[in-house]
Amino acid sequence: MNSPFCVELSAAIPDELVPDVESKLHYVAVEVSGLRIDPINRARITGLIDRPTDQLSQTLSKKVHRVVDSVMAGHVPVETEVYADRSDVAIPAGDNPMEWLERDGHAFALGAGQYGFGPLVGRLMDFFDVMFAEVHASFDPRQYRFPAMISTAAMARCDYFTSFPHSCCFVHHLREDVDVISAFSNRARSESNPSPQHTELADAEFMLAPAVCFHWYHHLAGQTLPPSGSHSATAVGKCFRYESGNLRSLERLWDFSMRELIFVGPGDKVQEQRRKSMEAFRARLDGLGLAYTIESATDPFFVAEYETRTRFQAAFKLKYEIRPLLPYKNGSLAAGSFNYHQDFFGRSFDINVEGAGSAHTACTAIGLERWAFAFLCQFGPDRSGWPREVAEFVATGPITVR
Ligand SMILES: [Zn+2]
Repeated sequence: MNSPFCVELSAAIPDELVPDVESKLHYVAVEVSGLRIDPINRARITGLIDRPTDQLSQTLSKKVHRVVDSVMAGHVPVETEVYADRSDVAIPAGDNPMEWLERDGHAFALGAGQYGFGPLVGRLMDFFDVMFAEVHASFDPRQYRFPAMISTAAMARCDYFTSFPHSCCFVHHLREDVDVISAFSNRARSESNPSPQHTELADAEFMLAPAVCFHWYHHLAGQTLPPSGSHSATAVGKCFRYESGNLRSLERLWDFSMRELIFVGPGDKVQEQRRKSMEAFRARLDGLGLAYTIESATDPFFVAEYETRTRFQAAFKLKYEIRPLLPYKNGSLAAGSFNYHQDFFGRSFDINVEGAGSAHTACTAIGLERWAFAFLCQFGPDRSGWPREVAEFVATGPITVR
């Protein structure tokens, strides 16, 4: 039976840190659930423990302190630069579309952070994918298809595990051992949902890709590129980030679709390409009449050392997020980003530009489910109020096969 669990902190959690702390509390421990900051007393964190003991309570209390302390220590009050503000655009605005999307079978949950979609949402995702490609046609990017999996060795090479360990999704298979395979198969005959034991699993050499662009850097590893010409690539792919209790409707999925445009080359060139990409995308959204902002941002690093990285990202304006408005919650949603990585991936993967040292990289990425969702939040179910080109696109043609 669940019992209340409570941790008193030495100081109240400041307003601006409440969302970050609450999102990280999901990772404290599996023995405690529903951890949240008391809305009245923000120096208190409450939750529920199954079968509490003094020792367990003490251990969990220490873990809560550790998570809170790491967020507090890593907090950097950075000023947000608003690059574009179209939040006052008049839009029909509706309620949260999840209710009618699920009721009418347009979207259906298949597990935590996983949804299936009918033609309405599928075609909207296609619309934004095609729109993105058209906007960026002038960059003449080469089109690629990449696997859903990527090697853990490649991800270790670019420090992914120190930055985002909580969201990694490792891929395992049974060990190549006839006894292990037979034992698992035998259990499957008697158990309705047999879960493999840890000892039966091989080491994870692969994980599900958390973004598309890593594949391109991995592919270019060890190469020296000519200084001129385009080294841009584009691909759409499934991406995976485990977000525990933060997974929510189409706003935050575990399994989602991302289209990326990736630039590799000398620093000044890729920065210019990122800027042009941002401008071109923005002009297209304005043409559609969507309400959004583009703001500087930092990545949600997990561990305490992220203070340095956050400062670094903010100081050099390495990341801008495009945030369509979600009128139903009087908020917005990060549905795309324009990232400049300096020579980080060039150094990590030993990618060089002839005569210019380590290659610099940038990527522009959009989440297709998030754009479909944000569009429906802004324009609702009544297609007569939609931008005509969107209504026509959705009405014609099947969902693109990916
Ligand atoms: Zn990327």
